[in-house]
Amino acid sequence: MIKLHSKGNQPLSVVQHQKPFIAKVTTNCELPFGLRAKHALMMPVADCIPDGFGLVLLGHDEPCQTPVNTLRLAPELRYIKDHDVIKFYPDIAKIDVLFRKEANTNSFLVTERCNSFCLMCSQPPKDIDDHYLVDDMLAALPLIHPDTHEIGITGGETTLVGDDFIRLIQAAKNHLPNTALHILSNGRNFKNLDLAVQVSKVKHPDVMIGIPLYADYSQLHDFIVQADDAFDDTIRGILNLKRCKVPVEIRVVIHQQNYHRLSRLAEFLVRNLLFVDHVALMGLELMGFAKSNLDGLWIDPYSYKNELKEAVETLTRHHIRTSIYNTPLCLIDESIRQYSVCSISDWKNDYLDICEGCSMKNSKCGGFFSSNLRKVSDHLHVI
Ligand code: SF4
Repeated sequence: MIKLHSKGNQPLSVVQHQKPFIAKVTTNCELPFGLRAKHALMMPVADCIPDGFGLVLLGHDEPCQTPVNTLRLAPELRYIKDHDVIKFYPDIAKIDVLFRKEANTNSFLVTERCNSFCLMCSQPPKDIDDHYLVDDMLAALPLIHPDTHEIGITGGETTLVGDDFIRLIQAAKNHLPNTALHILSNGRNFKNLDLAVQVSKVKHPDVMIGIPLYADYSQLHDFIVQADDAFDDTIRGILNLKRCKVPVEIRVVIHQQNYHRLSRLAEFLVRNLLFVDHVALMGLELMGFAKSNLDGLWIDPYSYKNELKEAVETLTRHHIRTSIYNTPLCLIDESIRQYSVCSISDWKNDYLDICEGCSMKNSKCGGFFSSNLRKVSDHLHVI
């Protein structure tokens, strides 16, 4: 999720006790008065600050008049630009960045609760009341630029927000009819056909539900997600969604526990779920539980190069659209490199010194998660 935040902003004039609010960033001081309350006016130079804006963001340290809700952005937030959407907490002068127009991906975290407990979860579940996250997304959607290519909904387990799950899809369709919607879910709640029917009834023109499947048999998948019957629930969920013609992507995070079954999993998919719309074979992100369970999960992607090749060949031979995510290009067999996608969100993407001078850097190779830089392959090489 894009939720970079900073408490280091310097309040110049803030209305105390006002509730947090969501605003769209603008540099247009001529905005009609009636629209100003939902906008954060960003001014590099504080010449003459117009009235009526919900928030004024200043970038320079010069003296100025100070209308309400005026603050100087903390240095690490000075990348904020026109059309971004932020949440502002007046009492503590904190800003969360909810949407960045120039980001390569924008996802909304709608709950931290989950009914699984995956060994490598990058966002460890919390059993808390976080309904405000749904409200934040509903408030942000009308402010997002209509040309946005795609937005994501992520968790936790996104279906645990109950009826709001459908409300969010409906609101995304209403406010952003030309924007693809990518939803992450473990798929288990779709074993209830009614939920799949409700999703299909929204008739979102471009929705995809990304569902993880970590093995070709239940014991291994259930072990990885630390939940009994999860494999059966997920398979039923996928079948229900496809029965309702809802597009489904299968997401396979590859690690020490399942790499040896990768080609069997590909065979399972072509035999049983040939109708899925996309399969993403993904490298491990060393965040959350993946860090705590590092010894049992980490494997050099070079070590499963052959398994990955075999899986991609099986899937593509059967015309399943297939992508490789989160894996340095030089560790992928040359024959399947065309399936590699630069998938890492720009705010957590990095390269190593060795990448300097590589022709693939910032083009066909997506590099590394910033969190993975301390644990890298011994087989990296420039191309
Ligand atoms: S050396 Fe090149 S291909 Fe390998 S990780 Fe770095 S940029 Fe990617």
